[in-house]
Amino acid sequence: MQAMLFEKSGLPLKMVQRDEPEPGPGELLLRVNACGVCRTDLHIIDSELSKPKLPLIIGHEIVGTVLQVGRDTKGFTLGQRVGVPWVGRTCGHCKFCASGRENLCDNAKFTGYDIDGGYATHTVANAEFCFPLPDGLSNEDIAPLLCAGLIGWRTLKLAGEGKRIGIYGFGAAASLIIQVAIYQGREIYGFTRKGDSKGQEYARRMGACWAGGSDELPPEPLDAALIFAPAGDLVPVALKASDKGATIVCGGIHMSDIPSFPYASLWEERSIRSVANLTRQDATEFLEVAAKIPIHSDVTVYDLKDANKALDDLRHGRFHGAAVLSMP
Ligand SMILES: [Zn+2]
Ligand SMILES: [Zn+2]
Repeated sequence: MQAMLFEKSGLPLKMVQRDEPEPGPGELLLRVNACGVCRTDLHIIDSELSKPKLPLIIGHEIVGTVLQVGRDTKGFTLGQRVGVPWVGRTCGHCKFCASGRENLCDNAKFTGYDIDGGYATHTVANAEFCFPLPDGLSNEDIAPLLCAGLIGWRTLKLAGEGKRIGIYGFGAAASLIIQVAIYQGREIYGFTRKGDSKGQEYARRMGACWAGGSDELPPEPLDAALIFAPAGDLVPVALKASDKGATIVCGGIHMSDIPSFPYASLWEERSIRSVANLTRQDATEFLEVAAKIPIHSDVTVYDLKDANKALDDLRHGRFHGAAVLSMP
């Protein structure tokens, strides 16, 4: 198999040849068809998430085909198309797993971080965290759903039932979840960097009823705000734009510090919360909605060997939507 290997921070990923891994009990060997490139991959190679296994194959938005089924692995057939997300394993018995919050599992293992992931032609995955994928969506369309889409889904769920939803940061997660929110009959207010008229145009094209800079106030106060940009200073900004009782949900795994702000901005039962990981139920619900809409991913496709360029383009915001690696 071929893989783009991460050896240490500061070095580009290196193309290597390896023997195909064997699936253990409860595992599947997958031929990777496509793998999304996520901002978390940048946080890993930049050491902002500092405890990856090394060397490591990153990538946690994997669309694969089942090549081999490990011993005692039930429910999958050869040739079936499956998706593998960021959460790769949970313990099933900590207090979080026991209370329907496996996304917070004390002993979770993550794909493309603790476990080799999808920047490769082949990978092995725990079947319990492999999801059968709906027909009608291409490999490239589905890959970004498996992290950006899922995190977006959980972020939107935690935002509650409000109608007026502000979105800060128009990357992959926003471009997917805006389609779901509009499908649910909500109004979207898109916020970009100050003066980013291209970004605002993109938000409007995606269906936002209003778009402006994050320094602007929306025409009506927001019922909830989803923050996907990794910028902590957006938290007080979003609070200022929001109505009584609003929830500000931070969708990122990493964010710069949140500056202090007056208590008056939080008063009247506004709340701030974050989103971590996903549950299997999130994945099942979201893939069902995504197929129903059907959701469209705005993707830029790169060959596996060009993974470093894909990461660099993501870092510098050179495309809208998501980058996806396509395997040889
Ligand atoms: Zn657990
Ligand atoms: Zn991700």
